[in-house]
Amino acid sequence: MTHIKKHAELMNTAVINTDFIPYGRQSISKEDIAAVVKTLQSDFLTQGPCVAEFEQAVANKVGAQYAVAVNSATSALHLACLALGVTADDRVWTSPNTFIASANCARYCGASVDFVDIDPHTYNLCANKLADKLALAKLSNTLPNVVIPVHFAGQSCDMLAIHQLSQEYGFRIIEDASHGIGALYQGDYVGNSHLSDICVFSFHPVKIITSAEGGMALTNHEQLAKHMRTHAHQGITKSPDELTQTPGDWYYEQHTLGFNYRMTELQAALGLSQLAKLDDFIAQRHQQFALYAELLRDLPITLPYQSNDSRSSLHLYPILLPQSHISARKAVFDALRSANIGTQVHYIPVHTQPYFQALGFTWGDFPVAEDYYHRTLSLPLFVGLTPAQQYHVVAVLTHALAEQGIK
Ligand SMILES: *Cc1c(COP(=O)(O)O)cnc(C)c1O
Repeated sequence: MTHIKKHAELMNTAVINTDFIPYGRQSISKEDIAAVVKTLQSDFLTQGPCVAEFEQAVANKVGAQYAVAVNSATSALHLACLALGVTADDRVWTSPNTFIASANCARYCGASVDFVDIDPHTYNLCANKLADKLALAKLSNTLPNVVIPVHFAGQSCDMLAIHQLSQEYGFRIIEDASHGIGALYQGDYVGNSHLSDICVFSFHPVKIITSAEGGMALTNHEQLAKHMRTHAHQGITKSPDELTQTPGDWYYEQHTLGFNYRMTELQAALGLSQLAKLDDFIAQRHQQFALYAELLRDLPITLPYQSNDSRSSLHLYPILLPQSHISARKAVFDALRSANIGTQVHYIPVHTQPYFQALGFTWGDFPVAEDYYHRTLSLPLFVGLTPAQQYHVVAVLTHALAEQGIK
């Protein structure tokens, strides 16, 4: 009981910030601003040295051989699917508990999408359910070509199991680590791509580090890196060994249909500056996580589970209301929002989106993801969130839960 008293005292002395507290936001330092300004004053706003430097720095940090920086993780996921040869004849499986981009990348290639329900503890794509679904798919000759595990909230999926299944059933793997830069799995950085073909990070402002908009694809396969790079640049090559003729230095050739998915120098300069703080950012998120764990431990809600084979980057702090009060979620959400706390729901199961329902999915298809969805709320968690703000969030939440008879 002493911890409750201690926190009650702290709560009284805490300066309550009544400004809007988002669920996530960027943390921008003077150094970040200086890095962007310096780039603005340089010769290159795009296609200069910063992008390559950022790519190299991320690749070195996480231990992958190749990195391709692009304008978003969505673009990186699309390029990853293309590089693995995904076409309209193919099948791609992912988690229903994710942002729609994890599934849309396969649709861009015309592939059909299916989902594997989540683990009720980690909320990640469940490796056991994947094994069951693969066994059935084999019987009907409908095995997936690519599986996209999503490291939800920054906690790695069971990559050893998923990788083993990929060997057994012959599918390729794209890790959607949009939440996961800086996370560890089995002691190594997520992104090293040892257990996948390609791993993708997002640098959207709510994610772990930001480049405003931006994404990166990591791989250890030179051909995949080359394919992604070419397709991010209109399908153009300037490599002498690939040109059909070499009339002069102006010359380039388009060999395939690509896109303009380039990251700008400003984005890369910001990303590079942010990368230097990655481990600090993760450490701060872990401190905030520990404080929530302490403040929330007597409430009848489910706190985020941390598996011991990994260190999450803690992109999100999703709590679950008890099964007995599943219909209280909207009231609790609204109470937090009216107290200026920017709670959010991560995620509406992708298969319930009208676009995916039109493709044949329906409520009830992935019951664990749906049950999770009905009960979840993400509490604010970001670099710069103060203990006082956390006490405030917990006080408002405790009151809102009590109003709904959850105490
Ligand atoms: C944010 C996010 C994306 C897309 O990232 P962008 O950089 O905004 O394109 C993809 N997958 C997941 C799981 C995400 O959270």
